[in-house]
Amino acid sequence: MPKATPEETSLSPEILARYEAVIGLEVHVQLLTKTKIFCGCSTRFGDTPNSNVCPVCLGLPGALPVLNKHVVELAMRASLALNCTVHEHSRFARKNYFYPDLPKGYQISQYELPLATGGWIDIEAGGAKKRVGITRLHLEDDAAKNLHEGFPESDQKSYIDYNRGGTPLSEIVSEPDMRTPEEAHAYLTALKQILLYTGVSDCNMEEGSLRCDANVSVRLRGTNEFGTKVEVKNLNSFRFLQKAIEHEIGRQIGVLESGGRIPQETRLWNQVQGHTVPMRSKEKAHDYRYFPEPDLLPIHVGEAWRGEVRKSLPELPEAKRARFVESFAITPYDAEVLTGSQALADYFEAAVKAGAPGKSAANWMQTELLRRLKDAGKEIDASPVSPAALAELLKLVDSGQITGAIGKKVFLIMFDAGRTAGEIVATEGLAQSSDTSAIEAIARDVIDKNADNVAKFKAGNEGVFKFFVGQVIRATRGQANPQIVNEVLRKLLS
Ligand SMILES: [Zn+2]
Repeated sequence: MPKATPEETSLSPEILARYEAVIGLEVHVQLLTKTKIFCGCSTRFGDTPNSNVCPVCLGLPGALPVLNKHVVELAMRASLALNCTVHEHSRFARKNYFYPDLPKGYQISQYELPLATGGWIDIEAGGAKKRVGITRLHLEDDAAKNLHEGFPESDQKSYIDYNRGGTPLSEIVSEPDMRTPEEAHAYLTALKQILLYTGVSDCNMEEGSLRCDANVSVRLRGTNEFGTKVEVKNLNSFRFLQKAIEHEIGRQIGVLESGGRIPQETRLWNQVQGHTVPMRSKEKAHDYRYFPEPDLLPIHVGEAWRGEVRKSLPELPEAKRARFVESFAITPYDAEVLTGSQALADYFEAAVKAGAPGKSAANWMQTELLRRLKDAGKEIDASPVSPAALAELLKLVDSGQITGAIGKKVFLIMFDAGRTAGEIVATEGLAQSSDTSAIEAIARDVIDKNADNVAKFKAGNEGVFKFFVGQVIRATRGQANPQIVNEVLRKLLS
């Protein structure tokens, strides 16, 4: 049970409701290149520490950086997909500070001339749509990684793995447009989805490919001025993000309500204790002494290059959702689930192309297929049932050759044994029975054995009818055509 901080405990819902939070997110995303941003060292995760290093990324004197063109391309893809303007001229700047994980003594980032500015993402939270502005997207190199545990002398020493140093990052800064933790969550979800669709990053949060900091302030509702913002760091999962922001909003309101003031500072989210703790004060702000990077030429992006990158962008999640609803007559909810990843969307489209009706493909994928995949610990790309095989099954169900209940059984066999629906239906004798006289014989038997329910039905209890339908279908092991069962029972019971 996380311990509540003293400021939080006395806040009533009425007090909380008088305030409004203002939230902006800064997201660092690792770009999916094979080599680092300014040298040819590998960016592979998990290699032996300090095996992917060279004079450039170790910051040795005299070593000169050379910009990796693919880094700029990926950042342009992200920028254009996020509706930003990619500037013709941008340049790198040195951000000077000393830290052991930064051997150069400065980070190469972008400052007054970032690669791209002025974009947006449309999100949906709490049933409402909202547009969140994106202030800027810029390029920078990552620092190395300090390792505080896992080594023989970790109790006395810290270790540094320079493999990560020089990995390409894009920092994506949002406008302070979000008002609730849910909106922040929705923004990060939508951003991650766009970065995955465009192949800009693998967005693996456990490996640090996607890192998020939040700027949070509160103000009385109805006021326009911003409160003092606090930067909350270490929000490296979606759950932490929401919890940390929730906590920070409550903490700030508590401080203000008890007559205190919020100092401008950086706080760290501590997941174990469930609260944020001060990390450093920003009131004596770092002077990073930014200046243009003298070892690198400015970045020039001509119209032709920008056009080429724009043309290479895939259909983005929002456009895909709209098209799915429009073309396949599925609900916006279905479309949202099915566009959750590019692979899922591709599977759905392939199934429909192979002849599956859109709505039943959507239903079967969301229930049978995703459930079975989850149980088997498999991703959609490794599904034992191909889109064409699912389409074949759904055509059998839709044309009435097998019942829905049998279809589910067939699906399980397909999933486990990799056989086709047609084969299974033929060899197991599962085809739907429309043999009226056979169904009638079974229905008579059911009616004879349930005199009490017959009496109830005749007394006007319509609900009992379902009982008879269920009994007959069960007696045929799910193979009786439900429509014929209905007709036969109506006739016999009237
Ligand atoms: Zn290197």
